[in-house]
Amino acid sequence: MNMKNEYSIFANRLSDLEKEIKKYDKKALKLGLPAPSITLLSYYDRLTGSGEKIPMAKVRLNRGGILKIGEYGIKAAIDHGTTNILRENPAMSNGENLDPKWWKASPRCSHCDKIRSRKVTYLLQNASGELIQVGSSCVKDFTGHDPTKALSSAMFEFALTELLEGEETLGGGSWSGQNLECFLAAVSAVVRNDGGVYITRKKAQIDGIASTVDLIYVPKAPRAEKSDYEIAEKAIAWAKGLDPKSDFERNLAAIAEQGFVTPKHNGIAGYIYEGYRRALNRAIEKRIEAKQAETATHIGEVGKRENFEVTIKRCFESYNDWGYTYTYTFLLACGSTLTWFGSKRLDEHEIGDTLNIKATVKKHQEYKGIPQTVVTRVCEA
Ligand SMILES: [Zn+2]
Repeated sequence: MNMKNEYSIFANRLSDLEKEIKKYDKKALKLGLPAPSITLLSYYDRLTGSGEKIPMAKVRLNRGGILKIGEYGIKAAIDHGTTNILRENPAMSNGENLDPKWWKASPRCSHCDKIRSRKVTYLLQNASGELIQVGSSCVKDFTGHDPTKALSSAMFEFALTELLEGEETLGGGSWSGQNLECFLAAVSAVVRNDGGVYITRKKAQIDGIASTVDLIYVPKAPRAEKSDYEIAEKAIAWAKGLDPKSDFERNLAAIAEQGFVTPKHNGIAGYIYEGYRRALNRAIEKRIEAKQAETATHIGEVGKRENFEVTIKRCFESYNDWGYTYTYTFLLACGSTLTWFGSKRLDEHEIGDTLNIKATVKKHQEYKGIPQTVVTRVCEA
C-alpha cells in the first residue's frame, strides 16, 4: 500500500474545502458508508521566488473507503476518450504502473463481451491480482454483489484525492476544462517568476510548499507573455511526439493529444512543461559535449604534479569490495577535462563549483575516441 494522505493547500481555501468534503459526508450517510473527513495538521508560509509569503495549511485526509465488491477490488477507472486516462484508486495503489495496454483499451466489458460507447469502465482486481475490465452496468452481474457502496466509495477516494490535489480550481469541479496551451503558458510564467524552478506536486508535499501548478491559480499569479505561449506550444509538440516508457509519460502524451486540461489532471499536465524543459536541457548538454569532444586535447605532462583551476562537472559514486570510489570529471577553461578516480569525496564542493587543485598527471588515454587525461593525488591547492 502506497497511500498518500497528507496534502498542502492554500490556507484561505480551507473552509471551502471543508464544505466540499461535507457534501461527501451527506452522500456517504445516504449510502451507509463511513464518512471521509480532513484534519488540519498545521499552518505555515510558503515563500515565492519574489519573496512573497503565501499562507498554507497541511491537512490529512481521513479515508473511509470500502475497497471490495465481493472478492473484487476496484483497482482503477478508465476514462475513455481519444486516448484513455487512467485513474487508479489511491486506496488500492501499490505504487507500480498499470499495464500500458489499458491506455489503448476500448470501452469493452469482459462480462458481456460488448464494446459500447462507455465513458468509464472499471478495472476490477481478483484474488490472484488479475485485472478484469467491466462496464458499470455489468459490475453487479459480474461480481454477484451490489457494487453501489464499493463503487461510490472508490469514487469518493478518486474525487477527494483529486479535490485535494486540484484544490486550486477554486470551484470544486465547476471548472470543466482549460485550453492546454493557455495552462502551460501560465505554468511557464510562474516558473519564470519563481527563479526558473519547477516544483512538482510530490516535491511540494515533501517540502511543505506550494507546487508550480498551485501557483498559477493564486490571485496575483504572473501574466503569461508571448514567450510563455511559444514554450507552451513547443512543449505540447514534444509531449505528442513522446515514445512513452511509463504510465506517467503515457498520461503526458494523452493530455497533449486531448489539447485541454481538467482540474483532476492538471498536476500531470503541468509536467508537460517541465518534461519538455528537461529534454531541451539534455539536448543542449549533448551538443556542448560533442563540441568539447572536437576540441579536447591531452593536458599536462605525464608524471608531473601541477596546479589547475577546474570546475566540477560531474561526480559518480560507486561501491565495490574496497569501498566507495568517486569518479570526478573536472572541466578546464580551455574546454578539455581531467578525470580522477578517487577514494574520497571533495566534501566541501558540489557540481558547478570552481576551485584550484593540485594533481599529478597519471596518464594520457582515449575514452570513446576522445583524449582523456587521468589525474591522481588530487587535493585542493
Ligand atoms: Zn458488460
